[in-house]
Amino acid sequence: MNRAIFLDRDGVIVKDKGYIHKIEDMEIIEGAADAVKAFNNAGFKVIVVSNQAGIARGYYKEDDTVEFNKAMLDKLEKAGAQIDAVYFCPHHPTEGKVEKYSKVCECRKPAPGMILQAAKEHEIDLRYSWMIGDRQSDIEAGKKAGCKTIFIGEDKGVKNLKEAAGIILHRDKIKSRYGIEETCKKLKAARKKIVFTNGCFDLLHPGHVHYLQEAKKLGDVLIVGINSDASVKKIKGKMRPINSGFERAYVLAGLQCVDYVTIFEEDTPIELLKVVNPTVHVKGGDWESKPIPERETVERNGGKVVFIKFLDGYSTTSLIEKIRKLK
Ligand SMILES: [Mg+2]
Ligand SMILES: [Zn+2]
Repeated sequence: MNRAIFLDRDGVIVKDKGYIHKIEDMEIIEGAADAVKAFNNAGFKVIVVSNQAGIARGYYKEDDTVEFNKAMLDKLEKAGAQIDAVYFCPHHPTEGKVEKYSKVCECRKPAPGMILQAAKEHEIDLRYSWMIGDRQSDIEAGKKAGCKTIFIGEDKGVKNLKEAAGIILHRDKIKSRYGIEETCKKLKAARKKIVFTNGCFDLLHPGHVHYLQEAKKLGDVLIVGINSDASVKKIKGKMRPINSGFERAYVLAGLQCVDYVTIFEEDTPIELLKVVNPTVHVKGGDWESKPIPERETVERNGGKVVFIKFLDGYSTTSLIEKIRKLK
């Protein structure tokens, strides 16, 4: 499952000049590209959902909107910001002058149709997603779809998309590979001692929490790399993980001792360790007698490998067994 930021277009990404449709009138709002880039780095999908009743009203054609959107995406991409998809509603229930667009539809906000369609097409978990808009109808659509919402407005709400991104990402602990690389550069510059550990962390139990709390004590910042769903399957069998990568990351991010979480796709954390460069790389006590493939990478960068014993009597596998016995 993915999480997404749904954005209204006019008044959020481009200046709202009223039924805007000409590419030469397009003005990207200051900070909007930076905000989209920040969402990209945090691993959110970024999806535009826009009412374009100007099409139903006969002010411009559907193709004009398609071209306008394409140009907007190009402009953002040049600034390093990526929009994953764009949806728009060409309809109007009462004011339409073009017959085929004059109807009550499911997509015109405040209806949640565009968000629900995007959620289906991009496997989005709406509970962890946000709708950001500058009209009450944006907020209503977001709420109906089950998203969290942020209103952009002059006197109530936040000033612009960049501010909204700040609110969403300020305490966001879940990072993409690029995001974790940037974060670690900043931490290193600030001379922070980075502790890293990795694992599946499927169904969390006291053993996990104890282990992570002990790991955190070894430095200033604790970064947890979690195995992707595909690699958990390889390690633990095809019935695992119980919780998806994002769900596992979300639970870990809720722990006070965890500072950042990132998902890695590879079989070993070697590539991730190359960008994290931890001072301490923590492994569970069960690794003490086994060869550690990433040891060389850690030590070459001046880090050391430390083992922390697990609390006896706890494991995700035994939890699953306990649940299985329930009738
Ligand atoms: Mg708007
Ligand atoms: Zn519609």
